Amino acid sequence: MTPSLIIANWKMHKTISEAQAFCRDFIVLSRGLKKTTVVICPPFTALAAVAASLKSSDIKLGAQDVHWEAKGAYTGEISPDQLVDAGCRYVIIGHSERRQILGETDIMIRKKVKAALGAGLIPILCVGETLQERQENKAYEIVEQQITGALKDIEFTEEDLVIAYEPVWAIGTGVNASYQDADEMAAHIRTCLQNINTRVMAAKIPLLYGGSVKADNFAEFLQGSINGALVGGASLEADSFFQIVRLCESA
Ligand code: PEP
Repeated sequence: MTPSLIIANWKMHKTISEAQAFCRDFIVLSRGLKKTTVVICPPFTALAAVAASLKSSDIKLGAQDVHWEAKGAYTGEISPDQLVDAGCRYVIIGHSERRQILGETDIMIRKKVKAALGAGLIPILCVGETLQERQENKAYEIVEQQITGALKDIEFTEEDLVIAYEPVWAIGTGVNASYQDADEMAAHIRTCLQNINTRVMAAKIPLLYGGSVKADNFAEFLQGSINGALVGGASLEADSFFQIVRLCESA
């Protein structure tokens, strides 16, 4: 069975003490989870503190980005080994905010995925179309390009990778995709994955939905082949985030 996964993307939120307070509350709430893996992706400045806070729990640590080089003159960047050293197991790559605001291309994303895998990190590869692309019926084509651009000719197994389908128009807008749209896109993504890597069982790669997920809209997403969620805004409070985790746990 593909494991259930709920990932918190805190983006550029929380000081170290705020991050520690969240962990204290969330660890108490989430004790005894049996089938849901939870990953918290704080800003770089809070990674070490969150790693220490999570040490006695099963909650995993992730970063929000990574550079593809191992070391060198790359001011402001963080390498895969530095993330491992900070206690990370996961890393978000290709988030639409980085693609759109910071101009990340599929070529850069591919290099990051390759470097992360090489360091033993699990990339959470984000893909998704803009509103205009959906309205022009290009959503499937765009997502296929993003998957192929990031993963073609890269070695990975079912355990190495997570895909997050995040329609850009649904991120931080309060407008979530329908469960049917997400489920159809999930099937398309699995076909793309299977086509570019015939050795993996694409059905076993965790496939998440992201885009204005909240406890009151997420239950229906778990009816189909979606394995969990990448959560932005609703992951900032321990209670609201735990409500989403609990839905996954009881699905
Ligand atoms: C995200 O940051 O990946 C995200 C989906 O944000 P939100 O849940 O706030 O839409």
